[in-house]
Amino acid sequence: MGDTLDWRIWHFAANGRYSVKSGYWAALEFKRLEVLSAGSIAGPSSSSLKLWKHLWKLKVPKKILHFLWRLAQNILPTKDVLFLRHITQEAVCFRCNAVYESALHAVVGCTVCIPVWEALDFPCAFLQLNLTDARNWLTAAWALIPPDKQSLFAITVWLLWNERNGVLYGSQPTPPRVLVQRAKDYDDEVKRSLVVNHRSLSSPVRDVKWYPPVAGCFKLNVDGAADLETGARGAGAIVRDSQGNLVGAMAMRAPSMLSILATELYALKTGISFALDASFVPLVIESDSLLAVNMINDVEECLAAEGALVDGVRRLLATHEFSTVRHIPRSANGAAHRIARFSLRDQNLSCWMEVGPLWLMDAVYDDWPASNVSSLHFQL
Ligand SMILES: [Zn+2]
Repeated sequence: MGDTLDWRIWHFAANGRYSVKSGYWAALEFKRLEVLSAGSIAGPSSSSLKLWKHLWKLKVPKKILHFLWRLAQNILPTKDVLFLRHITQEAVCFRCNAVYESALHAVVGCTVCIPVWEALDFPCAFLQLNLTDARNWLTAAWALIPPDKQSLFAITVWLLWNERNGVLYGSQPTPPRVLVQRAKDYDDEVKRSLVVNHRSLSSPVRDVKWYPPVAGCFKLNVDGAADLETGARGAGAIVRDSQGNLVGAMAMRAPSMLSILATELYALKTGISFALDASFVPLVIESDSLLAVNMINDVEECLAAEGALVDGVRRLLATHEFSTVRHIPRSANGAAHRIARFSLRDQNLSCWMEVGPLWLMDAVYDDWPASNVSSLHFQL
């Protein structure tokens, strides 16, 4: 069934047949050409990838990760950014009258921030770093800050940004010693909540959560999605390693009007092709469709209407003896579900390796075993 699909990426496979591998390389090539034709050579550079990997391991609430990522992208609405976009007449810092209020000025260089950083006892080389480029600065700062202080660092940058916004909108400035105490309290709270969540893993929980595969293995989660109004169908697949890190993910349309069961099987087939093509083996495969998983694992020939898809999946599995398919509840399949939903909004095949857009990194983060800290509410 999938082989008769009229899919424009077919043109890219040398043998004229559809393959996920040729599909995602073609998609990457499209992206690269788009970037080149837009006159920019900027792409997801290795330095931003490296930085994201650092940030991603950080156990702080998700909103703080969001903030750091926006800081690194230089898209916070600081005076210099607004000035360059002709939204304001001047770029002067409204707190210390420095000529340019850049994002790094707002959270590090401003005279009102420095006493906070000094009181928190970070390595002194830290404040002498070049403050011109936020991404380079964050990367350099990461190298200087001991691992046990990284969450405090992230929390402090975030608090200082909130402090800056508060003052901009009319609040009285908070004394540095109060900010220092808040940062420390918040860091303690975050670390405590991690311990609590860790303990709760041993007690029975109602919602089954995603968990990573054993060391040396990969886990593929797939899901299908259907738009009942338009008839569109989509598939999402995500591969993660034993640390819960994103290794690869893919979103693609499935043939319109497929049955829900066939869409789930289609997601299994394309997801497994994707993972095996990229050599993500040994592979554990999870789907939240009990019926689809049972059909695949049944030893009998499948005589249902979906038989061709079932055969397709079984053939793929037969090439790798370590690959197993199992059923998991929806609550443990959140990331794949979001990728499948995404495929309904975007006609193109999308593929991400190691790092993806924010919504995807969020989905990965939400599944992360220790990420319950992201639901932490702390009143500042
Ligand atoms: Zn300033």
